[in-house]
Amino acid sequence: MIRVENLHRHFGGFRAVDGASLEIAKGSITGLVGPNGAGKTTLFNVVAGALAPTSGRVLMDGEDVSGLPPHELFHKGLLRTFQIAHEFSSMSCRENLMMVPGSQSGESLWNAIFGRGRIAQEEAALLKKADEVLDFLTISHLKDEKAGNLSGGQKKLLELGRTMMVDAKIVFLDEVGAGVNRTLLNTIGDAILRLNQERGYTFCMIEHDMDFIGRLCDPVIVMAEGKVLAEGTVEEIKSNEAVIEAYLGT
Ligand code: ADP
Repeated sequence: MIRVENLHRHFGGFRAVDGASLEIAKGSITGLVGPNGAGKTTLFNVVAGALAPTSGRVLMDGEDVSGLPPHELFHKGLLRTFQIAHEFSSMSCRENLMMVPGSQSGESLWNAIFGRGRIAQEEAALLKKADEVLDFLTISHLKDEKAGNLSGGQKKLLELGRTMMVDAKIVFLDEVGAGVNRTLLNTIGDAILRLNQERGYTFCMIEHDMDFIGRLCDPVIVMAEGKVLAEGTVEEIKSNEAVIEAYLGT
């Protein structure tokens, strides 16, 4: 689904991503690991359109999508989760889901004159969808809670929920497990597995927690010094000499 070809992203003379090539298979939950400073976040930022590549290509289903802005990638179904923006923290969970840009008709003049009925219909459909998403994520009880009052893990679930409001094909998750307690981590893991198995989502996730990765990811890609160092199952990469050395070297 995604092919990254000899990708470089430099900052001045520094090569944060230095010729990385990798593939993310459709239907997989691919893990991206590596020591701090390996270039994982920079690679995510390039693939998801937040940063332009210095050189190299990113292909999605064979189409060159290198350097496309995030909103164009979004329309192709490539999404990256983002922290709930500060200005949305005083809105409820349900409202946060309904705010995701998608298929709303909006406030065009045509709609203002002729479309009131349709907008009301769309709003009802959005509301229904938001409630389904909250139910799927087992956080229906939080629907009227302000996003700003959620725990770290609950926020991660809501961020995942935002990707469910549109027809995502591939979702990039950046350290979804960081600072989340075990119980919520299991809920997040279950949601990811169900989205993958029941809705056909492909995932690529940066993660540090090896147990979490072991439960969810196959394959796991290891980056070090801006390059791909190894790829395999979590067991394979754990016993790979070069990988052990890269981690010890930091
Ligand atoms: P990882 O996510 O694997 O920890 P990053 O992609 O965040 O690695 O960073 C890789 C390297 O690139 C780090 O040494 C970091 O300091 C550097 N880097 C990242 N972003 C920038 C930037 N905007 N300007 C300069 N250096 C950066």
